[in-house]
Amino acid sequence: MSRGSLSVVSDAVVARAPSKVNLHLGVGPRRDDGYHDLVTVFQALSLHDDVRISPSSALSVTVRGESAASVPADESNLAVRAVFALGAWADRAAKVSIDIDKAIPVAGGMAGGSADAAAALVALATLWQLDIDRDELSRIAAELGSDIPFSLHGGTALGTGRGEQLIPVLARGEYHWVLAIAREGLSTPAVYGELDRLRDNRSGSELDESELLARPDALMQALASGDPEAVAPLLHNDLQPAALSLQPTLRRTLRAGIDAGALNGIVSGSGPTCAFLCADETEAVNVAAELSGAGVTRSVRTASGPVPGTRIIDPT
Ligand code: ATP
Repeated sequence: MSRGSLSVVSDAVVARAPSKVNLHLGVGPRRDDGYHDLVTVFQALSLHDDVRISPSSALSVTVRGESAASVPADESNLAVRAVFALGAWADRAAKVSIDIDKAIPVAGGMAGGSADAAAALVALATLWQLDIDRDELSRIAAELGSDIPFSLHGGTALGTGRGEQLIPVLARGEYHWVLAIAREGLSTPAVYGELDRLRDNRSGSELDESELLARPDALMQALASGDPEAVAPLLHNDLQPAALSLQPTLRRTLRAGIDAGALNGIVSGSGPTCAFLCADETEAVNVAAELSGAGVTRSVRTASGPVPGTRIIDPT
């Protein structure tokens, strides 16, 4: 992996990991093992978490930020699991402090936990000066969670398998988003369960796996053109009906964003965050202001993408 210009590693190392939105999320039928194959196009967004890792006499974790209270500060925290996994790989005791500065909404469909795991992996590998390349780090990441390899990778990428097999996608230009963050989160397994239930209840035709898992070529061409107006109508999320079924108020949020002038709006991943693609930065600021005034969500943020994957930043 790249260690940037850090030739001498200081007491603390800080890594920054992006959030993500799925521009396309095709979900295959439930497999016998309960999982679903995916075809997805991820875009990494500027809304990020920072994770600071410093040497300590024992493992500890702190979380700060707006939704810190809903993040576990024990061994179920994905950043802690990442530290244990890299400790096992390096055969070293995980005696470090992990301090998470959280801006990505929790249980929001924006891969916040995955971001923290990716940041913990990169920060710890740097702190310990491990001789580990990005592919190996990605392999460890994929074992911890299927969105974590993309948090490392960043940019815009096509994900297959469970989303962990990545191919970069050429995306020209910068995309401006407004994120409507809901009051209550949604559990990813619950949303997949609801999708299965909705599909089981649908009378008639069998699910066509090849159709569900088709590569979104039109979207990828639009991304190559760099025109948000071409990309907007091609945003697609198979999980959206399930998220709307579990949180019907999201329909109102999606309508409010479109009414405010967004090109299109979509539930991000398993939701409930709604992501609105806007024509440019000025439009995004206008849409964000109007959406805040509509009072349909807990908070509203603007973000841009694509941004790079997880990287070391200056600890000061
Ligand atoms: P995804 O988009 O990858 O499906 P998400 O963004 O919807 O995930 P997360 O914010 O990653 O959801 O959190 C899902 C659950 O994981 C939370 O409810 C929380 O209990 C648990 N969790 C464990 N570690 C973390 C972490 N570092 N940050 C946030 N949640 C975490």
